Amino acid sequence: MTRTNIMLSKQDLDDRILVQEHFAQEHLPSQMGSAEIEQYKEKIRRLLAEKDACLVAHYYTDDLIQQLADETGGCVSDSLEMARFGAKHPASTLIVAGVRFMGETAKILSPEKRILMPTLEATCSLDIGCPADEFAAFCDQYPDHEVVVYANTSAAVKARADWVVTSSIALQVVEHLSDQGKKIIWAPDKHLGEYVQKQTGAEMILWDGSCIVHEEFKAKGVLDLKQVYPDAAVLVHPESPDSVVQIADAVGSTSQLIKAAQEMPNETFIVATDRGIFYKMQQAAPGKRLLEAPTGGSGATCRSCAHCPWMAMNGLDNILAALENGADEIHVDDELREQALKPLQRMLEFQAN
Ligand code: SF4
Repeated sequence: MTRTNIMLSKQDLDDRILVQEHFAQEHLPSQMGSAEIEQYKEKIRRLLAEKDACLVAHYYTDDLIQQLADETGGCVSDSLEMARFGAKHPASTLIVAGVRFMGETAKILSPEKRILMPTLEATCSLDIGCPADEFAAFCDQYPDHEVVVYANTSAAVKARADWVVTSSIALQVVEHLSDQGKKIIWAPDKHLGEYVQKQTGAEMILWDGSCIVHEEFKAKGVLDLKQVYPDAAVLVHPESPDSVVQIADAVGSTSQLIKAAQEMPNETFIVATDRGIFYKMQQAAPGKRLLEAPTGGSGATCRSCAHCPWMAMNGLDNILAALENGADEIHVDDELREQALKPLQRMLEFQAN
């Protein structure tokens, strides 16, 4: 069951414009020569040390950022691990290279730290497609349902939830709730929700949101590519449409897909998630051939890019600027933070047990 949301068609349009603008821009990291890159990296390394800061980066950011996070003792991971790593790290400032909800999650878990982002404009179609006031009104219609939201949501949406989950733990949490006879409101990703619903048999009402990157993967394109590489295994993130999930050899979160590439015997993988993951996946599975799952087609929001336009807003230039002027800082209202912390902590405790 999905919610009808007229706003999303306007949202789709806005997303499309944003993606087009993104591709019309020059992006610094790929446009820099190696000497310039080295200069940026050197300045960032120095300022990280001087300002007691740590760089945490998502798997979908540029390779150069992932390298730098690794080299400087930061971390490269999924959104949950970024926040957990940041909370445990002794640095007083975290530079969160990713998208806005990741910075907010870091602030919710580490209120005493200064959380800076390369740009606060880096957001997520799932986050902006689930406004807190509309979501609250939606939840109010089903007062007997447990509210489970994906990590890709604003602090205000998390504050309305009973549980926050990531894609790596969604199945277990929903199964646990379903076993207790609970009915569930799931938001915002309808594809991940559908996958969880099918796998667990839980009674779920789904919010009608989607990721503009994963939504563009096409089953036909993957099958066509399989004709060329018949021995390839297909790795799929469950934010992808059901038709793509159905032809997967492994379905999972970013960390789970990296593990699958490492552990499965295949030499070639067709990977249906943001291509930023290839940096870490190739390190984990050296010598294996990684192919981007086809996207695009007429009417697609992405130009067969398999890359998130908001993740691509992170660059060495704005990481340096964040360290120099601290402009794009994340603030979360104290009361909201305390409310959002509860469902996040519930997930962390569930995971620990
Ligand atoms: S890849 Fe999709 S889910 Fe991830 S930040 Fe971008 S729009 Fe959001």
